[in-house]
Amino acid sequence: MARPIADQTIPMTSSSHAIDLKRRNWLYRSALGTGALTFLWPTMLPTLLLGADSQAAHRWPYEASTGMFCIHADFDVSQGGDFLVELDQLMNDVRGLLGTPAPKSIIHMVLFSSSDEYRRYMTHYYPSLPARRALFIQQRGTAMLFAHRHPEMATDLRHESVHALLNSGESALPLWLDEGLAEYFEGPADKRWSGHPHLHAVQQRAADQSPGTQTPELQTLEELNQVADMSGEQYRDAWAWVHFLLHRRQSTRRLILDQLEQLCRGRPAQPLSRCVAAQLPDWRTEFNHHFRALTPNT
Ligand SMILES: [Zn+2]
Repeated sequence: MARPIADQTIPMTSSSHAIDLKRRNWLYRSALGTGALTFLWPTMLPTLLLGADSQAAHRWPYEASTGMFCIHADFDVSQGGDFLVELDQLMNDVRGLLGTPAPKSIIHMVLFSSSDEYRRYMTHYYPSLPARRALFIQQRGTAMLFAHRHPEMATDLRHESVHALLNSGESALPLWLDEGLAEYFEGPADKRWSGHPHLHAVQQRAADQSPGTQTPELQTLEELNQVADMSGEQYRDAWAWVHFLLHRRQSTRRLILDQLEQLCRGRPAQPLSRCVAAQLPDWRTEFNHHFRALTPNT
């Protein structure tokens, strides 16, 4: 159930700069401080500390909260259907499947009615950040998610929200696992098993017995450290590995759950590729069989 938010936390802006949003790219990571992976917190993010008068002057046209999400928007998101209910359901789905704890703090979701408004805002308040269609930022315990209205906005929000939900623990997830899980949950719930857009390409490769056709190597995905290093193929392969491990067997799902639990507690976790090799010596055959057996839900 949505309820109004009494305080203002995110600034409105009138900057007129424009930037290109050339590619979908979700989570911006930056090495800060100790060199460990963390999230970038722009120096101008601001009005969490504004006084009451300033807050009132900068109130967003639409504000609401649901569960762990606090929404600030320049349009009425309730006109878009079951948006808020879906966010609650997503958090329940992620926690139910993965056993992850609830986030330690509220996730702020900032939404714009158009790409132009979104670009103006991001350029004004976050000039050093790369241009992205949607962006998740977290540092110092505060999570913020920025996006704008377009036909795929719900997919963007689910994807980014999963990053927010999974990265509130002590340690950052391996990039491939973080993105693979976000890809897994980004579609509507009834499409997760056999309706993701990646499935067609993964099935084609799984069915192709010609020389040179390779099953994606998990170890290769584990070597990725920066979102900028990931192309659409890496997102697809990360999704495929997450789907395979979550659904092949209880024991393969346990590999992901154990790793998430270790990372959540701040403990080192060994690469999943080693666990897979030990548990499934013929993983290539199993991987391809897993996807060949799926009937697409289009
Ligand atoms: Zn992502």
